Amino acid sequence: MTDLTRLTAAALAEKLASGEVSSVEATSAHLDRITAVDGDLNAFLHVNEGALAAAAEIDRRRAAGDALGELAGVPLAIKDVLVTTDMPSTSGSRILEGYMSPFDATVVARARAAGLVGLGKTNMDEFAMGSSTEHSAFGATLNPWDPTRVPGGSGGGSAAAVAAFEAPLALGSDTGGSIRQPAHLTGTVGMKPTYGGVSRYGSIALASSLDQVGPATRTVLDAGLLHDVIGGHDALDSTSLPDSWPSFAAAAREGARGDVLKGLKIGVVRELPDSGFQADISTSFRAALAAMEAQGAEIVEISAPHFEYGVAAYYVLMPAEASSNLARFDSVRFGMRVTPHAGATVEEVMSATRAAGLGEEVKRRIILGTYALSAGYYDAYYGSAQRVRTLIQRDYTDAFAQVDVIATPTSSTTAFKFGEMSDDPLAMYLNDATTIPANLAGVPAISIPSGLSDDGLPIGIQFVAPVREDARLYRVSAALEALLQDQWGGPLLDRAPMLGGKA
Ligand code: GLN
Repeated sequence: MTDLTRLTAAALAEKLASGEVSSVEATSAHLDRITAVDGDLNAFLHVNEGALAAAAEIDRRRAAGDALGELAGVPLAIKDVLVTTDMPSTSGSRILEGYMSPFDATVVARARAAGLVGLGKTNMDEFAMGSSTEHSAFGATLNPWDPTRVPGGSGGGSAAAVAAFEAPLALGSDTGGSIRQPAHLTGTVGMKPTYGGVSRYGSIALASSLDQVGPATRTVLDAGLLHDVIGGHDALDSTSLPDSWPSFAAAAREGARGDVLKGLKIGVVRELPDSGFQADISTSFRAALAAMEAQGAEIVEISAPHFEYGVAAYYVLMPAEASSNLARFDSVRFGMRVTPHAGATVEEVMSATRAAGLGEEVKRRIILGTYALSAGYYDAYYGSAQRVRTLIQRDYTDAFAQVDVIATPTSSTTAFKFGEMSDDPLAMYLNDATTIPANLAGVPAISIPSGLSDDGLPIGIQFVAPVREDARLYRVSAALEALLQDQWGGPLLDRAPMLGGKA
């Protein structure tokens, strides 16, 4: 019998629809896989005890002839930044250990309504601050390709879960790259939708003007299928776009079979010098561009002179918003409470709780953000950063007047070793230089595998499209995915030695 954990979500959904496989079987196979590998990997913070019951309910409804969604019965891993009523939600922080939400995040509610089966909550850097999961209060997640290396962050748990075949689909959140950079480091697909395209309601806020929820999967089609379920207007999120969206799965299917690359104008950013990237990342990037050119795409050099200020602006705006969002963890409303001594004042309890409940990186960013927002410095820091943000938005507008999509390597290095960057916050921050501009401008961006490094680690390529053109990203990246898989003779993950593949 086929190993159900090796199937894509699309293939598994077909077997579920035809009755060849039950959701209980599919869910059990993934739970068994989690039991077998997650003790080492640590991709999950919590496994759903109710998963098999939820799967049985879908099987019952299918047998009763209910009309079910395309992904009904398919298991889903959920980043712990998203609140759930049936499992604890910690956002990777001690301060929320054991916290049970009274409501589901909209994306979780939509997944549930579509019949997806929640497998568990995935590990992440505390409050989504980081690029390696080393800042999780519950221990780091290992990269399934090489357990001595990070899976990326903050959504390393979701990416590792899909890469290690513990789940066919996962949800992530991306404030500066947290869906895309882990996808790049684990040989998987990660999509950050247009800002406002997917509801943030019930996503524990890091930086509200930058955060976006999106899919983490093994294929572009699977990302499109999940995006179709979670996306669209939500009255509970005041920044949710009122638009109706085309089917992203249909766009991915069209891309995989059609000639969408013919005449496509792909922008490459002149100001991103080769020297900023690990050499084999540049080589893989150029090879992917050449493959698309051979199919009739046109490579156009564009200028984005303000991208180089993106990291600096981000590390003012993100901590500023984070310091304000995290003020809600005050020892009164949610989670942990530490009483330092009998008769302690509210301020003393609050201070002791935050001192004990929040990690180093979170404290660092709260201090940075509070400083940036303080009266005397507000305009010098926050005001300047907002102006840079506008300039980056204009860079995109000018570029998209000339090209259909922009392509960049997803990140500057392949998976680094544990400890290699965690002592140097600045080095870690620079890892996001290519992903951050899309968050600052609210444009959609996707990372898909583009090849392997000289030492056999996965590399990703990122495509960015104008606001609301998420479907274009699915078309283009599905086309490249099909081309590359033809070259490789199958998915990149089949070449992960740790996962049973041949290098
Ligand atoms: N690595 C970036 C940071 O540390 C991005 C995080 C994210 O997208 N949540 O902020």
